Amino acid sequence: MKWSNSFLFTKKESPADAEIPSHQLMVRAGLLKKVGPGVFTYGYFCLRSIRKLEQIVRRELDAIGCQEILMPMVQPRSLWEETGRWEEMGDLLLKFQNRNEQWYCLGGTHEEVVTDFVRNDLQSYKNLPQIVYQIQTKYRDEIRPRFGLMRGREFIMKDAYSFDLSEEAAQVSYQKLYQAYERIFHALGLDFRIVEADTGNIGGSQSHEFQLLADAGEDQLMICKQCDYASNIEITPVVAKTLPEYDGKKEGGFKEEFATKGLRSIKDLANHLSEKEENLVKTLFYADEEGQAYCILTRGSDTANEVKIKKVLGLANPPRMLEPEEVKQLTSAMPGSCGPVGLNIPTYIDQHLKNFKNFVVGANRDDFHLMNVNLSDFANEGFHDLIVAQEADACPNCGGSLYTKRGIEVGHCFYLGTKYSKSMNATFLDQNGKAQLLEMGCYGLGVSRTVQAAIEASHDKDGIIWPMSIAPFQVHICNLDPDSKDVDPIAQKFYEDLQTAGVDVFMDDRKERPGVKFKDADLLGFPVRVTMGAKSIANGEIEIVQRRTKESEKVKIDAAVAKVLGLIKG
Ligand code: ATP
Ligand code: MG
Repeated sequence: MKWSNSFLFTKKESPADAEIPSHQLMVRAGLLKKVGPGVFTYGYFCLRSIRKLEQIVRRELDAIGCQEILMPMVQPRSLWEETGRWEEMGDLLLKFQNRNEQWYCLGGTHEEVVTDFVRNDLQSYKNLPQIVYQIQTKYRDEIRPRFGLMRGREFIMKDAYSFDLSEEAAQVSYQKLYQAYERIFHALGLDFRIVEADTGNIGGSQSHEFQLLADAGEDQLMICKQCDYASNIEITPVVAKTLPEYDGKKEGGFKEEFATKGLRSIKDLANHLSEKEENLVKTLFYADEEGQAYCILTRGSDTANEVKIKKVLGLANPPRMLEPEEVKQLTSAMPGSCGPVGLNIPTYIDQHLKNFKNFVVGANRDDFHLMNVNLSDFANEGFHDLIVAQEADACPNCGGSLYTKRGIEVGHCFYLGTKYSKSMNATFLDQNGKAQLLEMGCYGLGVSRTVQAAIEASHDKDGIIWPMSIAPFQVHICNLDPDSKDVDPIAQKFYEDLQTAGVDVFMDDRKERPGVKFKDADLLGFPVRVTMGAKSIANGEIEIVQRRTKESEKVKIDAAVAKVLGLIKG
């Protein structure tokens, strides 16, 4: 491809809504154009990278016996009704009616369609295992699309689904996919971590996220300094600290109200009482989808973890925190003056409150708290791990120290068990002729997100630094004198020789100043830059620069093709 006849327009500025470097660079390098919120046109250069990633994915999945299929994007409501997800997915599913007023949605994920695809054909244990996958455009009506392709509404995903005859066999499929993912992300040459992740509410299931490490990542990870333990902070178990008994006994030691006018935050209360925040008790209120309210107690210094609360309560989705008005209705007081005493709702206590005595909680009367409260003063559902882990917490695996890192979730392996086969009645006959539910797994990989994540993880102040494996072009020739009879024929020949050798080569043959060309070459970020100008050609040489290291080398023209091929092989 030559610049002079390509649709490529680089920009000096990026739009205001491009908040992170990869998004800014993608727009500036002409890879991407926004059509609407979370919806983009992928330009030619972007699509080349996407296609390369897709090929790596296909290569690795085909190698373990997965079969590529393509399911529809438009899906009938009836299938989603079978699993109850038509309602459960809420507004994330874009729903619409056709001319006959029949309801459909755009596929945000394909468990329903794929289960329907296999359910009447996979009749015998002899047909198992099976793994199918597709690479397809998904639509999710994300509340807050942002960061370009990172959280789009329309995006490209590879989703695979495994079907097995037992939990044991399903684990084998899971491991196969897990290892294929490792090979795929290794091929990208990026720093990734595999972390344990939330499994939803499917007993005994497991889930691993593949995370690229980058400061702009939306996920927070907890990684052990000593062992290879890593998890998404959503689920990182907090190893109960052995805390000394806390006794906050005040005045006569009786449980009684005292005025705390205007003291609504833990911080203000701690200041007022000259008490540490970790010795105060925080009262929070949540509700599940049925409207049942719950009370959660943690130390004042801890943060409640809604994914853990979801698990403890046995819910399908994280509970919703009550609005101040709802809290008022429930407790007679606004948040900040509420506590567990005298309420008639299930109350769950974080494990670090075990040794608390005579503590302070809200009095359920605005601007009053209660002192000398004990755990025996209210009914409760016992102690649980309900809080978010913190830097330097103990590793649940080895006791070492955890540190935090931000990550971009690029892939997700998920053992589903029989969740979908059960609700959709997908059975097979086992060796004894008995009907059994299919054991399933699903495995997502965000193709468009990964391309941008690769840029987020690999760029500098001048532009993109593409990994060789998914670079739109491997070599960028800066032809500095396209009008010169001495330079141009050599540049053209070099370009053709590389193409013949199977190299993806791009040539900047515009009539622009060298400075402009170098700036654009850095911005576009193809791994190997070759500069050809009158001066060096007169010396029988050309210059080769590696984008990542900016290492530059003069090479004899005759040796240049071999040199470039060597750099591409790595
Ligand atoms: P997230 O927590 O980031 O919303 P998810 O858990 O909803 O992700 P999955 O349903 O497991 O994601 O989807 C599989 C993969 O698809 C994810 O690992 C991610 O790489 C990608 N993906 C999910 N949502 C988006 C999105 N809105 N834009 C781009 N890629 C996405
Ligand atoms: Mg999501």
